[in-house]
Amino acid sequence: MSDLTTTTKGEAKPKRSIGQFFIDLVLRIVLDRKPGGKKDEPPRDIFREVKETIVFVVVLVLLLKTFVAEAFVIPTGSMAETLWGDQLRVACKECDFAFELNYSARGNGRPDANICICPNCGFRGTPANPSAGTGDRVLVSKYAYHIEKPKRFDVPVFKYPQEPYNPRERSAWNYIKRLIGLPGETIAIVKGDIYFTKALDYSWERKPEGDGKDGWLLQYCYHNDRRAVEAFLEGKFEHYRKTPDQILTVRRNVFDIDHQPTFLTGKMKTRWHPSPNNGEGWQYKDSTFSHSGDVLGWIRYQHLEPSWDHEMSSGFKEIQDVLGYNSLEDDFASNRFRFEWVPDLLVETHATVSGSGSEVTLELNYGPTRFQAKFANDECVLLQEKANGDISSFVELARTKAPLVSQGRKQLRFSDFDGRLTVWLDGRVLDFGKFIDVDVPRDKFRMTDADREAPVRIGSKGEVLCEKIRIWRDVYYKNNSTYYVDGDPNRATEVETYFVQPGHYFCLGDNSQSSHDGRSWGTVPDRLLLGRAILVYWPWFRMGVIE
Ligand SMILES: [Zn+2]
Repeated sequence: MSDLTTTTKGEAKPKRSIGQFFIDLVLRIVLDRKPGGKKDEPPRDIFREVKETIVFVVVLVLLLKTFVAEAFVIPTGSMAETLWGDQLRVACKECDFAFELNYSARGNGRPDANICICPNCGFRGTPANPSAGTGDRVLVSKYAYHIEKPKRFDVPVFKYPQEPYNPRERSAWNYIKRLIGLPGETIAIVKGDIYFTKALDYSWERKPEGDGKDGWLLQYCYHNDRRAVEAFLEGKFEHYRKTPDQILTVRRNVFDIDHQPTFLTGKMKTRWHPSPNNGEGWQYKDSTFSHSGDVLGWIRYQHLEPSWDHEMSSGFKEIQDVLGYNSLEDDFASNRFRFEWVPDLLVETHATVSGSGSEVTLELNYGPTRFQAKFANDECVLLQEKANGDISSFVELARTKAPLVSQGRKQLRFSDFDGRLTVWLDGRVLDFGKFIDVDVPRDKFRMTDADREAPVRIGSKGEVLCEKIRIWRDVYYKNNSTYYVDGDPNRATEVETYFVQPGHYFCLGDNSQSSHDGRSWGTVPDRLLLGRAILVYWPWFRMGVIE
């Protein structure tokens, strides 16, 4: 869903929906109809009027059909934090960061929120100001899929294909998930990202029983079929890259500098601090970093986590797919949840740059390489680190105009989600004339020390003020299992593949940590799709179009 609270003016404009198209068409027809009947006007063209009226009626009917929508309440948390089920809204006692906890399990006699984990500072303890909220109410366009085919990353509502049915209403449960795989595709889930291909042919496999009616069953997804895994390792899959709007919808908070944990203040270094070796020129005060002087200096982020008992831990770790929302669940409290390193990051800051020659660079580490968005001389230059033996240097990928110096306070945002670099300046996506896709070869892609020591850095020269620094991570779709090449435990890959039978869709929950979805039961047959969730209409402060 569009993040209403942080969306700034001029955010990349979402694509015009079908509904909007019809509204525009109706308005155009209505506005074009001139008042007739005056004597000095030329005689009316009766055929033209009839034609216009027919078009008007047809459009009106289509418009109504498009908007014949059903309201659904989100019952559970499998789409968090994109859509909320019943939740408890709380604030962290240590950093005052407000967040939601899954509360849909309340009916199972779960006590009120006691121990949970803050998704911002990592504090584990009792939160402040709990207030319960019911699940989001969404409007579902029932005709969306009669007009156009379902698209990847849609949020469809569908009937759960498997029994048991809802015992009270004697009907199938309604599910809401993210559409990940299209008919005939093979999907690969790797390091939280989605890959797809249509190149694999399973016609030799045993056909689904019951005239194809059983095609949704997991067994017909040929899970981790050896040929599919090998095709992935040979680079034959395409990486699904989210649009800028989708990036902003599914990003998850890592750290907001305006919410510093008080318990760490004065006891240990803050998560953001000047780099010990090259932090020249930086001063920190009241959540703001200011740089002065002609020497390039860096501040870096370290993901410092306090330990369970509220004592400080000395170390820092990689950024993981921890979701505070799930922290009331038993599996979470007992550490049975498995957390993964999330390589895809997003950093943003409000920068005030003054004086010619001043510059600011946002840097994201990505396993064995690093990406930079460097703002200097009224341009933004994208750079990638290339190692050659022990020597590393930065290679230019693209550049475009981006005036920053003496322009007042500007919001800069830089992400490397799904192997694609995206830069925003004051909410607008910068156009580099092409997509900047930067896939690292699979055999070289792994976590490095830099992912722990300095996953995110900001470098500056001259007079620069950085406020509202915030880090986000990509949504992380998890694997259910590990694939062993030739059954050899030493040759494990993190690839997981699923084939999607023709006429079916593969769907996942955005809260992959705690979602009962395609990974465990299979796919959704066409006939069970009820429609596409188009907007949240309640609660009012979360109202908005679902991306
Ligand atoms: Zn906190």
